[in-house]
Amino acid sequence: MYAKVIIEYSIKKLDKEFIYMIPNDLWKSLKVGMKVMVPFGHQEVVGFVTDILDAIDDISYEIKYISKIVDEKLVLNKELMNLGKFLSENTLCTLITAYQTMLPSSLKVKKQKSNYDLFDEYIFIKDKEKALEYKSLYQSKRKSQIKIIDELLEKGKALKKNYSLSLVNTLLGNGVLDIEKVQKYRINKETSNIKKELTDDQNKVFLKVKDSFKKYEPFLLYGITGSGKTEIYIKLIEEIINSGKTGIVLVPEISLTHQIAKRFYESFGSDVAILHSSLSEGEKYDEYLKIYRGEVHVVVGTRSAIFAPLQNLGIIIIDEEDASSYKQDNNPRYHARDIAMYRGKYNSIPVLLASATPSLDSKARADKGVYTLLTLKNRVGTAILPKIHVVNMEDEMKKRNMIFSDLLISKMKEKISKNEQIILLLNRRGFSTFITCSNCGFTYKCPSCDITLTYHKSTNNLICHYCGYQKRCEDVCPKCHEKALNYYGLGTEKLEEKLKELMPNASVVRMDQDTTRNKGTHEKIIEDFKNEKYNILLGTQMISKGLDFPKVTLVGVINADTTLNIPNFKASENTFSLLHQVAGRSGRSTSPGEVIIQTFNPDNYVIKCAQENSYDKFYLHEMNFRQKLKYPPYFYLVSLKVIGKDYQKTIDTSKKVKSYLEQNLNNVIVLGPTTAQVFKFNNEYRMQIILKYKKCDNLRTCLKELDNLFIMNKDIRLEIDFNPINI
Ligand code: ADP
Ligand code: ZN
Repeated sequence: MYAKVIIEYSIKKLDKEFIYMIPNDLWKSLKVGMKVMVPFGHQEVVGFVTDILDAIDDISYEIKYISKIVDEKLVLNKELMNLGKFLSENTLCTLITAYQTMLPSSLKVKKQKSNYDLFDEYIFIKDKEKALEYKSLYQSKRKSQIKIIDELLEKGKALKKNYSLSLVNTLLGNGVLDIEKVQKYRINKETSNIKKELTDDQNKVFLKVKDSFKKYEPFLLYGITGSGKTEIYIKLIEEIINSGKTGIVLVPEISLTHQIAKRFYESFGSDVAILHSSLSEGEKYDEYLKIYRGEVHVVVGTRSAIFAPLQNLGIIIIDEEDASSYKQDNNPRYHARDIAMYRGKYNSIPVLLASATPSLDSKARADKGVYTLLTLKNRVGTAILPKIHVVNMEDEMKKRNMIFSDLLISKMKEKISKNEQIILLLNRRGFSTFITCSNCGFTYKCPSCDITLTYHKSTNNLICHYCGYQKRCEDVCPKCHEKALNYYGLGTEKLEEKLKELMPNASVVRMDQDTTRNKGTHEKIIEDFKNEKYNILLGTQMISKGLDFPKVTLVGVINADTTLNIPNFKASENTFSLLHQVAGRSGRSTSPGEVIIQTFNPDNYVIKCAQENSYDKFYLHEMNFRQKLKYPPYFYLVSLKVIGKDYQKTIDTSKKVKSYLEQNLNNVIVLGPTTAQVFKFNNEYRMQIILKYKKCDNLRTCLKELDNLFIMNKDIRLEIDFNPINI
């Protein structure tokens, strides 16, 4: 017997199958999808079994034996093995990278396996007759032991740690008791059965999707903020579980997993597993094992949860489907939506995309009938969409209002006096976004990225938000040694400080990457705010989507221009979505909500459409623009980055790449090379080429061949990104 094995080796050229012999003692246990150790050259390396064969044709190399199976517990099933191939073809990553991506890091092939299993030990009566005999022998002398026997005779089994160790050991030694080990999971939740009846509108959507339970059908649910999308997910999943199937629910942010997972726990208790990056390695391992063993029917998680090895998948739901976090921005550059569609087709099941601000791509597909469009036009109950005020900050500057407009200040005071809550959005973390010397003009920049460093006051550090480089901030200019450093730009840290000065009696909590580094901090901030421990929640885009706080009646956007002015074809779409979504946090319950958007561009159509709460108007306007400039969804994009340490070599190579593409591709617009948005990153130079096309048959083969040309190149790398969201 032989096995085909792909092996873990960093050189791309080795991304192919090798044949090994299966030793006799592994014939029975070895399966496709298992990880194994195999000899390769003079090393032992890890690999995945991709096929098992009875016989082989002659091959040119010496065939060796598989050394051992790494973990019999974990096998990639047929669906995931196929999905790996799809992922590798779709993003041009190696097959082994694809399989690695599909497993949580604690289970990755490469790592030495540490043992994450936790067990509880239970004791039980081994032999009833013996126990009774023991009882009658020692009835009076060994009272404490007899008590244990009596309890176990009645209960069956009990946790060992609840009893005295010496007594239990004696009984074990005498053969009266025995021990059973049961795997213990770190996360365990109970249901609390809060059931809501769906409204008529919700029910219509539910029934539409339910009608397609047995076939592949992609849906786009365009439901305004507060229209009760989560309850529909719950009802759908309930139906799916009742029919013996399973479901995946994806959310964009860790902060949202908590809130949605909580709703799912309430409904389904320990039938739910969660997967996201701030779980500990042990927790991830447990959750993965529960899924793998078929002990749960629902998985709630962020992007990579789309690879959850659920059997008998019945539905995939992607909440806030337009969120950019669904696209992975390093290798493999996949979009969770594409994986969802693959699994949807594979299992013949519905895929439900949902958002109050669908991505232009999805909305356009729905308009064309590729996705089935479902809409929810009203909020649940009596709630209506909030009233939105736009404040021109140019006028405020004249009044020396640098951060807070008069309107925002008076509204904040009003809401606090009424015991209502406030959310403030500023999409920039840190204290000051740059520091400049007014004497010599020196500005702190990252030595490897050529980007201004952001000042973080709490740690007195200057940090590069691209590569993470840090240095201490001195109080004199490092160049001219004058005490003339000035702090410019506003981040959430400074906003918090200024807000506390302005309203000393208000209680304020900040939520951004810096305040949520420790495990459990997301949950705590959200729970505390929900329980009204704070008047004001301020934060970055982390707080803009999905959260449901009934007491919030005012949302303030401190500077709507931060995302608008980024040179990216999706800047308007992202800004509209951010503004509309964060506005949607206001007035979700009985009290009507208000929103204040502060901007220097009050006439910009993005701001105007947000003010009118009009996604449809924005959509039409933006589609027009995309069509004129040949952007998605009218054209597909590919971004190629040529990256190297040597400035000239990088530029020269990028020119060669361009002519290669022009010679080999038909019907494709090749733009560039230009310097990438972040030209210097981590001491490497980056040149970018953009492809635009509608249909091109040889695109992937051509790019694969191009990619292969770079395999052995030590100086220059090529990065290929299909459907980039950031150019
Ligand atoms: P969305 O995700 O569409 O923005 P949510 O699912 O968060 O909206 O629902 C908004 C609010 O309405 C929540 O507080 C939720 O508990 C409530 N809600 C949703 N559906 C119902 C229902 N059928 N009956 C009562 N309350 C509901
Ligand atoms: Zn840097």
